[in-house]
Amino acid sequence: MDYKLLTPGPLTTTKSVKQAMMVDHCTWDQEYKTITQEIRQELLSLAGVSDAEYTTILMQGSGSFGVEAVLSSMLGPEDHILICVNGAYGRRIVSMSERHNLTYTVYEVAEDEIPRAADVAEILENDSSITAIAMVHSETTSGILNELDEIAKLVKDNELLFIVDAMSSFGGIPIDVSALSIDFLISSSNKCIQGVPGFSFTLAKRDQLEKRRDFARTVSLDLYDQYETMEKDGKWRFTSPTHIVLAFHQALKELDKEGGIYQRYVRYLTNNRLLRQKMAELGFQPFIKQHQGPFITSFLYPEQLAFDFDTFYHHLKQNGFVIYPGKISTVDCFRIGNIGDIYPADIDQLVEVIEKYTEVANVS
Ligand SMILES: *Cc1c(COP(=O)(O)O)cnc(C)c1O
Repeated sequence: MDYKLLTPGPLTTTKSVKQAMMVDHCTWDQEYKTITQEIRQELLSLAGVSDAEYTTILMQGSGSFGVEAVLSSMLGPEDHILICVNGAYGRRIVSMSERHNLTYTVYEVAEDEIPRAADVAEILENDSSITAIAMVHSETTSGILNELDEIAKLVKDNELLFIVDAMSSFGGIPIDVSALSIDFLISSSNKCIQGVPGFSFTLAKRDQLEKRRDFARTVSLDLYDQYETMEKDGKWRFTSPTHIVLAFHQALKELDKEGGIYQRYVRYLTNNRLLRQKMAELGFQPFIKQHQGPFITSFLYPEQLAFDFDTFYHHLKQNGFVIYPGKISTVDCFRIGNIGDIYPADIDQLVEVIEKYTEVANVS
């Protein structure tokens, strides 16, 4: 059964990205190591940062492994991390911090609100022991896009460490990593770069990496150790996901061919606006009223229909589209992603399929 994924990663990739995996590549020779180095360089250039100030570390596993690598190997006994939460991925950072016995404080707002800089400022004023802030950029739980600018100012003014989970945003929206003073930005192979799942990557400020080299609590997720090995000649510690690396290398070329991050952002934004406008015409309300991001949208179950998610899901799947169930803790939603190799024509087609469902559901 052939269908398009309207999910925020894994997502629909191009044929050429899948084709790049049809090789069983060795890992020891120069050619493979060069591919790794090219990927690392290209990620720095996408972020607009210099090789002198930043580096990229690739890490086996899904995106969460990258977040956990940063939290478990870059925070020391003197650190106290303030975690801004407005969804499940923020809460995941809290779970990881708890598991690794980090000193942390949680600042949580509702899932349809963004963390406010004024609140963060107040927390910082009342607690001078805080040394770091961690937050999610695009909270994929709801699709809300958190604002980094104002919080970044507080990070700078208070000389804090800034950790950003930009999993579902990096590559799909311009992020001025250096100007925002981000020390560790984490994303993964299967989100806006449009590769397949299997590794995460961290853009890291070199001076912080060096300063924090001895803090690792695990061997496999030791970010510094991985960096040290990779930095020599592009060799991964432990077995690298060769097919995924080849696919990602190809995906980066395709991002470049599309015109870079800004052009991709415009495509995603166009998809997202079209989706929300057409869904509104069919009577579907978005969960997020303000700060909706361009990547994924949560829609409330429509009250006027005899709505059943399973029936809806299977109707869409039979007609060529797969979506996500909701993840909001307080209301029933489903989510539609519009990232990946997806264009306005796909959105038009999807909405036609949804319209057919509403006609049937209206009768019953
Ligand atoms: C996808 C995602 C992650 C990582 O999830 P994995 O399932 O481990 O890949 C983390 N944070 C956000 C915001 C995400 O969208």
